[in-house]
Amino acid sequence: MRLRCRICGERAVARAGPGRRYLCARHYLEHFERRVAKTVEKYRLLRGVRRLLVAVSGGKDSVALLHVLHRLYRGRVELVGLTIDLGIEGYSTPQVEFARRNFEALGIDYRVVGLAEEYGFTIDLASRRRRLVRRPTCSVCGIVKRYVMNRIAIEVGADAIATGHNLDDLSLFTLMSIAQGRIDDLVKLVPRTEKMGALVPRIRPLALVSGKETLTYVVLLGAPFHHENCPHAPSDGLRPELSAMLERLEDRNLEFRKMMYTNIVSNLIPRISRPDDKAGTGTCTICGMPASGKICSFCRIRMRLTEHPKIGVE
Ligand code: SF4
Ligand code: ZN
Ligand code: ZN
Repeated sequence: MRLRCRICGERAVARAGPGRRYLCARHYLEHFERRVAKTVEKYRLLRGVRRLLVAVSGGKDSVALLHVLHRLYRGRVELVGLTIDLGIEGYSTPQVEFARRNFEALGIDYRVVGLAEEYGFTIDLASRRRRLVRRPTCSVCGIVKRYVMNRIAIEVGADAIATGHNLDDLSLFTLMSIAQGRIDDLVKLVPRTEKMGALVPRIRPLALVSGKETLTYVVLLGAPFHHENCPHAPSDGLRPELSAMLERLEDRNLEFRKMMYTNIVSNLIPRISRPDDKAGTGTCTICGMPASGKICSFCRIRMRLTEHPKIGVE
């Protein structure tokens, strides 16, 4: 039996929404874009935003983000693209190429920042020298990406930075922050972080759509994206365990992740006081970017990796 779209009767290609309705390609795309527009309105993500820096890794989520913002807000918000070459062998080069292809297909101006060329180190090097940097690779990568995004946002005069974090990422990160008692991190996981000193606001328009939904969206759009997983993605430990647990809970209740995340954002995070949050209020004495101490985390990592006598980009 051929399944039909519940709205127009055309051939159905996907199911969507809490009712798991069958939809054709056109109605699926509309459904997805409506969900994103509702998130943008609900959390007032584009308040005061005329120029928006869109961080695109080349993976499905950030490619979906770029297209949905372009389709919904073209003409109202000026989009500027950013992609970072993290220097991960076999992974970063195709990522950057996919990002580039999407920027060019949509006619969006963009910047490519190469870590090796601009800062003299790579994420592969940070991974090999974990003990020297004293941080797990993904933690270094997160610091590097936030730093570069903020620097480029300031350079291009962007009012905010958009990232492709989806509901799966954000529900998992919130749960991990709670499990590990990292309450200061929890408050950063809201759909919009506000300007603090020289820290440019960050927005997450895909906060209420799942990874499966963004995948269906980019496939139906026919947008090119990179399918591979990063070789540094942790395969054991708390993260994959909690992720599997959330998936099981969602099998029983399709709205579980959304319910958990939106409840935490609306009811828990506003009650957390942050008397010690000084991030972004100081200035790094080396690079002049926001810092909580004298030297920002990025410069500390860069110095450990590039000023050690025996190492450099290998
Ligand atoms: Fe960076 Fe870790 Fe993501 Fe790889 S898995 S891109 S190292 S944060
Ligand atoms: Zn239809
Ligand atoms: Zn610095």
